Amino acid sequence: MDPFGTYNKAISARATDKAILKKSQDGGIISASYIYGLESGLLDGVIVANTEKGFKAVPKIVTTPEEVLNAAGTKYTISPNVSVLKDAVREYALEKVGIVGTPCQVQAIRKLIKYPMGFRHTDSKIALILGIFCMENFPYEGMKAIVEQYAGIRMNDVLKTDIGKGKFWVYSKSGEVKTVALKDTHMYEQKSCHVCMDYTAELADISTGSVGSPDGWSTVFIRTKNGEEYINKMVEAGVLETKQIEEVKPGLELVQKLSLQKKEKNEKELGHRKELGLPIPY
Ligand SMILES: Cc1cc2nc3c(=O)[nH]c(=O)nc-3n(C[C@H](O)[C@H](O)[C@H](O)COP(=O)(O)OP(=O)(O)OC[C@H]3O[C@@H](n4cnc5c(N)ncnc54)[C@H](O)[C@@H]3O)c2cc1C
Ligand code: SF4
Repeated sequence: MDPFGTYNKAISARATDKAILKKSQDGGIISASYIYGLESGLLDGVIVANTEKGFKAVPKIVTTPEEVLNAAGTKYTISPNVSVLKDAVREYALEKVGIVGTPCQVQAIRKLIKYPMGFRHTDSKIALILGIFCMENFPYEGMKAIVEQYAGIRMNDVLKTDIGKGKFWVYSKSGEVKTVALKDTHMYEQKSCHVCMDYTAELADISTGSVGSPDGWSTVFIRTKNGEEYINKMVEAGVLETKQIEEVKPGLELVQKLSLQKKEKNEKELGHRKELGLPIPY
């Protein structure tokens, strides 16, 4: 089974701007790409997952570096970023849109580019597709149960969430740090994630995640010509610091292990649902 999909190059990288690193989840690749795009004119607007009261994720079209930074960081819940793509073009009149999404959202973007039913005049305005690795996601009520019942932190007090080292981490605005064992979070996962066969956003221009690289750094797959040209410009402009992926630990081996674990587990579930005559997405 192919773990990663097609890519030209894999690297480990992080933003050079300390303000980005302070707010971002990992190496700040998404925020740095967005901010570089807006400042250089390669992008004129980008779609982020913002947070509303109670750490609810809401897609938002933004046009300034400040707004990008404000929306940095992972929300372990659904943010339907593709749903505002048409508004970005029709209402905001954007010509060069950047969009970030989980692997399933990146699939939706590629699909609407190939078959633009209901998306006429939108597909050609997508200038950059950024993907984030994703093992699973949670409906809002699921994330709330984990954070409030297991970690004992109120949703209104959440500053940051993270999954790593076998735990779900919750950081509160007042400085508390609580963890929940991942075995306790499984029952809250979104059910459709159990038939998902993509861990590393295989159809993005550039995809990134924390796994494989040291803390504060990101693993980055550069997949398309567009993605390669974009990263090269960022490196030339000095907004990214990069290392060969072979130089860092644990490296691609761990990414491969987790990707195959996800695909093999979910392939079984796909088979099971087929046997029951239930609809599957492939
Ligand atoms: C549900 C989920 C599961 C993940 N699982 C893994 C994993 O198993 N392994 C791994 O290595 N990485 C995983 N990630 C990715 C990781 O947590 C970081 O998002 C990624 O490394 C980017 O970090 P960054 O510092 O480059 O991004 P930042 O600069 O912090 O920017 C992150 C960007 O992603 C957007 N965003 C945040 N949450 C969502 C969301 N729910 N949907 C869409 N966009 C969002 C933000 O608005 C922001 O623009 C997961 C992310 C999500 C959302
Ligand atoms: S596991 Fe798959 S379906 Fe679920 S949010 Fe992640 S990419 Fe989407």
